[in-house]
Amino acid sequence: MIPSDVRDVLLHQHYHLVGGHSAVKLCLWTKKSIQDQGYCYKQKFYGIQSHRCLQMTPAVTWCTQKCVFCWRSTEHTLGTALQEIDDPGEIIDGAIIAQRRLLSGFGGIPERINQRKLKEAQDPNQAAISLSGEPTIYPRLSELIGEFTRRDFTTFLVTNGTLPQRLNSLDKMPTQLYVSLDAPDEETYQRVCNPLIPDGWDRLQETLELLPSLKTRKVIRITLVKDWNMHDVEGYSRLIKKAEPDFVEAKAFMLLGGSRKRLSLENMPSFHEVLAFSEKLASKIDYELADQKEDSRVVLLSKKG
Ligand code: SF4
Repeated sequence: MIPSDVRDVLLHQHYHLVGGHSAVKLCLWTKKSIQDQGYCYKQKFYGIQSHRCLQMTPAVTWCTQKCVFCWRSTEHTLGTALQEIDDPGEIIDGAIIAQRRLLSGFGGIPERINQRKLKEAQDPNQAAISLSGEPTIYPRLSELIGEFTRRDFTTFLVTNGTLPQRLNSLDKMPTQLYVSLDAPDEETYQRVCNPLIPDGWDRLQETLELLPSLKTRKVIRITLVKDWNMHDVEGYSRLIKKAEPDFVEAKAFMLLGGSRKRLSLENMPSFHEVLAFSEKLASKIDYELADQKEDSRVVLLSKKG
């Protein structure tokens, strides 16, 4: 399903393709954790073990947006819908095999490796369903989450919120649901997120309104890009109040992958700028600062009480 030129780009970027539309990539923090060099903020915030995290997507190069800060090569977006649909169980089997292959390189540097972690990493127990592309484009997402759960995985799903119907129809909810909110108003949304659908903003609003009824832990994630979307904290607060999330994560944009063609180092806010934005936001939505991780430039806010 993926043309050979796009496939070559993805392989060059160290994605391991699974079936016709899915992919796995070793997370930087998984690699660091295996070498005892640190761990992801999700380990600090939510107890997820970085070395056992499987970072995967069921829609590697399909998305409803072309966000300016995206790590993907957004010029290779293949559309907003999949043509052929792979089986969820086969995707998971393929993803675990791919993860093990990607980990096999670590066997050659035993002096730097925590052997216990490397052994445990062969059997991931956390699926980060995000990585690249919009996962809710995969129509059998509910079954995919169900199958991960049946295999004793925790699941973190990240969505851009433009497919509220798919979220609403999930029979099986992820352990944690992230909705990206990267603009305080529609004009900023159009500029930052470049939707490929005409009603992206309206659909995102529908998702925010749907969120309180969804029975799982919910997080609004804001990727902060300096000079693009760090204004109008009041606007963000109005939108977040509609969604009533358990947490808000404010995270600095990082100049990686495809985003290097669109943005520069100046667009990366410092940790202190992320913190200042978060403190202002917290006071407006009545949340409190729950945690922070300076090297990831991320701040966690949680609902009071
Ligand atoms: S929604 Fe996610 S995958 Fe799609 S363009 Fe934006 S950051 Fe990239």
